[in-house]
Amino acid sequence: MDIAEVLRKNGYKVTPQRLAVFGTIDHNPNHPNAEDIYKTLQPRYPSMSLATVYKTMEIFAKIGVVQVLQCEEDAHRYDFNTHPHAHIRCVRCNRVVDVDMDRDVLSKLAAEQTGFKVNTVSISFTGVCTECQKKEQ
Ligand SMILES: [Zn+2]
Ligand SMILES: [Zn+2]
Repeated sequence: MDIAEVLRKNGYKVTPQRLAVFGTIDHNPNHPNAEDIYKTLQPRYPSMSLATVYKTMEIFAKIGVVQVLQCEEDAHRYDFNTHPHAHIRCVRCNRVVDVDMDRDVLSKLAAEQTGFKVNTVSISFTGVCTECQKKEQ
C-alpha cells in the first residue's frame, strides 16, 4: 500500500511527518500507543508534538489504514493490521500480541444465542507472555 497515495485520495496532505508516523506503525507487531510513536520519532523530528501524533493517527484510523485498539489501559494502541483479529495483553510487561481467530464462527455463535444481527466482534485476552513466564521461573 502506498500511504502517500491513500492520503491524497482521501483529501489529506502528504507531509514528511505523516509519512514518518506511518513508518513507525507499518508492520510493527508491537501495537504501540501515541507516546511510543512520539518517542521513536523525537530524535528525527524534534519539532513534532504528541498532539500531532494523535491527530495523524486519527486520520489514519479514519481512512482505514490503522486500527485503534481499546485496551484496558489509558492510552489507545494502534495496529497496522486492519483485518479482524483478537489481542492478548501481558499483565506483567503490557506487550500486546495478535491472536488469529475465526470471527465468522464467533459472530454466528453470538447471533444464534441472542438473535442479534452482529456488526462487530471485539475480543481481548490478558495473560503472562512467554518471556515473563521465563523470568518468573
Ligand atoms: Zn510479558
Ligand atoms: Zn493486532
